Amino acid sequence: MPTASLQKILKSKKYFILDLDGTLYKGSDIFPFTLPFLKQLRATDRTPIFLTNNSSKSTQEYFAKLKKLKFTKNINEIYTSGLATIEYLKAKKIKNIFLLATPAVEKEFQDAGLFLVKNSRNFPIATPDFEHQNGFNKTKNTTKSLHVQTQNVTISKHVNAPSALPVKDPAAAVGQTRAKKSMPGHNRTTLPQAVVLTFDKTFTYAKFTQAYEYIMAGVPFYASHPDTHLPLEGNNFHPDIGTLISAFQTATGKLPTVIGKPEKTIYQQLQTHLNCKKSEMVMIGDRLYTDIKGAKDYGITSVLTLSGETTPAMLKKSKTKPEFVIKDVGETVKFL
Ligand SMILES: [Mg+2]
Repeated sequence: MPTASLQKILKSKKYFILDLDGTLYKGSDIFPFTLPFLKQLRATDRTPIFLTNNSSKSTQEYFAKLKKLKFTKNINEIYTSGLATIEYLKAKKIKNIFLLATPAVEKEFQDAGLFLVKNSRNFPIATPDFEHQNGFNKTKNTTKSLHVQTQNVTISKHVNAPSALPVKDPAAAVGQTRAKKSMPGHNRTTLPQAVVLTFDKTFTYAKFTQAYEYIMAGVPFYASHPDTHLPLEGNNFHPDIGTLISAFQTATGKLPTVIGKPEKTIYQQLQTHLNCKKSEMVMIGDRLYTDIKGAKDYGITSVLTLSGETTPAMLKKSKTKPEFVIKDVGETVKFL
């Protein structure tokens, strides 16, 4: 990429949206150029925004972590997919939600004014005993094979479906029939306005079941981000929220509306949060399919750093092309 034009573009930017792992550090190793880069941003009156898809930690927890690393002294410079989800729901005037989240993230949602539905008496979870008492087990079921078309995948699954269902949207139809049979007391006013899945490291079968019931009763389903794996030390991984989304997809046949990268929604929310123009923002990240894709889809300048996951060979193969490519953020210091 021509350096003159990168210099010209970066000179015009006020908000530097920075991915974390692979961009500013790798695991627990902070890159040697990171702190000088952040210092130069501040010296030239720019604002770094630390953007993370990881919604297992609250903004406050991320702030504590990044403060310890000497990245920031200002919590307003942190933007998580959890915070983007909060702002998205509030913009949609959603107030009552069933949230799957860690205790710290639950608190962040509550502190932001969202009411967390815990366990509505009018909307009990269908337990085996409950189903039995309500004659649910007497329904004659047959097994139907359902083919559910999702974004890019077709999954096949078997669902125990009452025999006389009109099968237009089979998964939804099965669920709604079940919901009505197993929850006689419920009506629209007793339901939450949304089921919201974050990266809930305290996820349990009880939470899964309750969320399942709500989704099948027609409650809109949202997820903070879609990552399938969480990078750990030494090139190891753990399952991330995407694996929970798959579990819900298998159970309900439904996919959530996703807020975080690579969806452009998180960039849209961030722009509203910063109250700035798109032209003042630049995204710098190491992943083509999240950082760069979302930024490009939303129409803000994207810079790929080769200090993380993406190799030159991967870039060559990818259909997603950033506007600029740098070796690492240290390379930009002379342009700020
Ligand atoms: Mg990264």
